[in-house]
Amino acid sequence: MSAPSTECPFCTRKQTIYLESPRWWLLRHADPVPLAGWMMIAAREHRGGLDEMSETEQREAGVILAEVARAVRAETGCERTYSITFNEAVKHLHLHVIPRHASDESTTSWALADRYRATARKERAPADSAEAEATARAVAARCAGPLAALGFRAP
Ligand SMILES: [Zn+2]
Repeated sequence: MSAPSTECPFCTRKQTIYLESPRWWLLRHADPVPLAGWMMIAAREHRGGLDEMSETEQREAGVILAEVARAVRAETGCERTYSITFNEAVKHLHLHVIPRHASDESTTSWALADRYRATARKERAPADSAEAEATARAVAARCAGPLAALGFRAP
């Protein structure tokens, strides 16, 4: 496990946390976010990647991802979701759950990476912040019941 960092946006809790458990936080991608419903789960411990998870975190990660994916589909109407982890810009274990809309080719596979970069470079408008916020709160509300068994609650 890497040491917590005073620079780390997760360790310093710079982002809104919608649900928390003893081991995880549910957040949304920070603005500018390409799509409303772009959620993230982050380990509470400062871990560099999947290979640094505790055994309990390993068991819980799949359950959490499935519930968040279900909620993102329900709240955004997306066809399916993508789940990825890089831990590159922020080297603290976090997994993205991203809506893939059948009607929007720019959310498909690697086109999504192009859209992400275009949003970051301000060549493409991000999702409306208020909509992203409302969607994240709705996703969290939908997950709260199913994830209560893992100790999730509103912070
Ligand atoms: Zn951290």
